[in-house]
Amino acid sequence: MKRFLVTGGAGFIGSAVVRHLVGDLGHQVCVLDKLTYAGNLENLEPIARSARFHFARLDICDVAAVRALFAEFQPEVVMHLAAESHVDRSIDGPAAFIQTNVVGTFHLLDVAHDYWQSLPPDGRAGFRFHHVSTDEVFGSLHDEGLFSETSPYQPNSPYSASKAASDHLVRAWNHTYGLPAVASNCSNNYGPYHFPEKLIPLIILNGLEGKPLPIYGQGDNIRDWLYVEDHARALVLVAEQGRVGETYNIGGSSERTNLQVVEAVCDLVDEMAPDAAIGPRRELIRFVADRPGHDKRYAIDAGKIKRELGFTPRESFETGLRKTVRWYLDNEAWWRRLRTSVYRGERLGHVA
Ligand code: NAD
Repeated sequence: MKRFLVTGGAGFIGSAVVRHLVGDLGHQVCVLDKLTYAGNLENLEPIARSARFHFARLDICDVAAVRALFAEFQPEVVMHLAAESHVDRSIDGPAAFIQTNVVGTFHLLDVAHDYWQSLPPDGRAGFRFHHVSTDEVFGSLHDEGLFSETSPYQPNSPYSASKAASDHLVRAWNHTYGLPAVASNCSNNYGPYHFPEKLIPLIILNGLEGKPLPIYGQGDNIRDWLYVEDHARALVLVAEQGRVGETYNIGGSSERTNLQVVEAVCDLVDEMAPDAAIGPRRELIRFVADRPGHDKRYAIDAGKIKRELGFTPRESFETGLRKTVRWYLDNEAWWRRLRTSVYRGERLGHVA
């Protein structure tokens, strides 16, 4: 059993990581999370009563408090997922993205480095800092090719630029100060507990309620999709077994156009929750003005993590999507609270 400090552990992916670490693997976990609009303690409900689970409501920019938490919890592994994560929000208000994703990552690295230096030699040798990032840092692909770990950084949105900056900081803290860091860049995630502003939950929930299903542009932008519980398993492998100083790309080898994704969700919702008053959900699809600077295609070469760490996804896009629609049908109380209070669905924004 190890002690993991997980920043952003109340968010979509962070909570899947924590449920896996505590629930499946029996590790001790302390979640450090500010609980922004995207953080939700209900995401941790399945493991919340475990004696191995701890929670601290903190901003990663609050250096003194984060330092005190490191001293108290004495983590052996830090997994850094706290971030502002929604591209549309970064276009409307980039400042929070620079503050949390760039300045916050700097503060966390600084605290982690001081803490690591204070450890005895065997503690220093075993310590790992894992930075969790996105494939969006590589920019946009055209019809051919895949992002590899050596693809040049070409971020296009304020979100991806802030994540690219944080990736570079992590690299520098490893290279210059010797902090034992690893990093990973992953494609689009989907699955249970996904905040309803993102494409797949938005389409499921609007489809259930008979509301319009917005798609940017012509719906021909292509993303690679990975089921969030597969990502969580991959992240723990990287954190525990990844080589220090390396980065690992993580993907699902499941490229789909946004229109294909939306149509697949429509068909599943029709099958699992038919509603004669609403009719076929595909008829609710509406093409809306494209997102400014919308990247055309992301796709991942996930060969390195497969070769070095033996990771392959368990879910295909079809099986993962079916599980996801089932989860939203079975967990109405979870999403209805978010839909009626925090997020009212006025914005049409979607896609991480
Ligand atoms: P999310 O928005 O669901 O969760 C982010 C969490 O971070 C929330 O719990 C929020 O409260 C917390 N947080 C935000 N600012 C904070 C701060 N200043 N201090 C402490 N906590 C703070 O995001 P997610 O989709 O779970 O993404 C997690 C990480 O994975 C992010 O770093 C993101 O860039 C990366 N990522 C996401 C995807 C995706 O498809 N969602 C894909 C690849 C990588």
